[in-house]
Amino acid sequence: MLVSKLPDKGTTIFTVMSKMAADYGAINLSQGFPDFQAPEALLERVAFYTAAGYNQYAPMSGVPALKQQIAMKVADLYGRNVNPDTEITVTPGATEALFCAVCATIHPGDEAIIFDPAYDTYEPAVTLNGGITHHIPMGYPDFQIDWQAVRCKINDRTRLIIINSPHNPTGSIWNEADVLALQEIVEGSRISVVSDEVYEHIIFDGQTHQSLHRYAELAKRSFIVSSFGKTYHTTGWRLGYCIAPQEYMLEFQRIHQFVNFSTNTPMQHAVADFLEHCPEFHKELSGFYEQKRNLFCRLIKKSGFRLLPAAGTYFQLLDYSEISKAADTELANRLTMEHKIASIPVSVFYKDPPGQKILRFCFAKSDATLEEAADILNKL
Ligand code: PMP
Ligand code: GLN
Repeated sequence: MLVSKLPDKGTTIFTVMSKMAADYGAINLSQGFPDFQAPEALLERVAFYTAAGYNQYAPMSGVPALKQQIAMKVADLYGRNVNPDTEITVTPGATEALFCAVCATIHPGDEAIIFDPAYDTYEPAVTLNGGITHHIPMGYPDFQIDWQAVRCKINDRTRLIIINSPHNPTGSIWNEADVLALQEIVEGSRISVVSDEVYEHIIFDGQTHQSLHRYAELAKRSFIVSSFGKTYHTTGWRLGYCIAPQEYMLEFQRIHQFVNFSTNTPMQHAVADFLEHCPEFHKELSGFYEQKRNLFCRLIKKSGFRLLPAAGTYFQLLDYSEISKAADTELANRLTMEHKIASIPVSVFYKDPPGQKILRFCFAKSDATLEEAADILNKL
């Protein structure tokens, strides 16, 4: 008889809602993934490297050419010089990177702070390592962080703060004051930071992504995680990476080598080539998704939903309190089964759901899909 280490966790909401969408033939705006193709030149490079025989284990920390390109990108975007040989590991998705980073920092009895609504992998990673998670709710409806509440939760067992900007599921982003508040809180402490920056290239209205790479004092104690899945419309390739100072990275790799050992070889070579030859692609991504956000919002402006601010990511939150009194989990199920449109109920990302009536919709979809979705939403 097995005794679960995660007895309170069921199957992830993304799996549940995507399956329900498929079962009921619904438009799937639930799980976050694009319904359009990756860039042609990138696909061509994958075909090249698989045919050329790059099909065996990659080095444990990643293909050198890719780590080199990642280091150049970080220097170009954020002005930080990282050593590609000692401070970068390529991982099978940001998911593995987040897990290894938590594993590297949390011992039994250690405490971690996360902000609700929180992406669903953070808490289980802490729990599986014997840690205790403190959940601090973000404000509504702007989803900003209450730094005084953070200060109150810190004690001598706090070892980790997990942050995420641009933020899934809310689309909120950090400003400079947030970073400086974090910096002031962790200064002189034993607290490390995991910064989930997978949506670093999807930020709207001319705003700047406050990457921790820009802040040397914080970068010294941080694991900064990103994902090529979001950037190149390839969530199924499972390709992400982590950047951290050498001492942190050694511990991270000690774990990574026993979790997955290394990451998909031909894809790493292909992305390295693509980064070298098409360095503009990620710089145009914000504009691309801003148009999608604007289109989706315009199409449903006259619906009964209230649009919440969306500053980054490819998610739009919709408040449905004018349409229904139902709980968000119940409404999400009903919309999928009866109205053929799938979304994600936001309450599942909270330890103590505050009872807001909000659903998350993914707008990383073709314009035609967004129009079809809007037709349904406008009739509710
Ligand atoms: N963090 C956040 C906030 C995400 O939204 C996601 C994926 N949607 C991940 C991490 C995981 O990224 P990956 O698919 O590269 O594992
Ligand atoms: N991160 C994606 C989302 O928020 C889903 C990832 C997953 O299914 N594990 O929808």
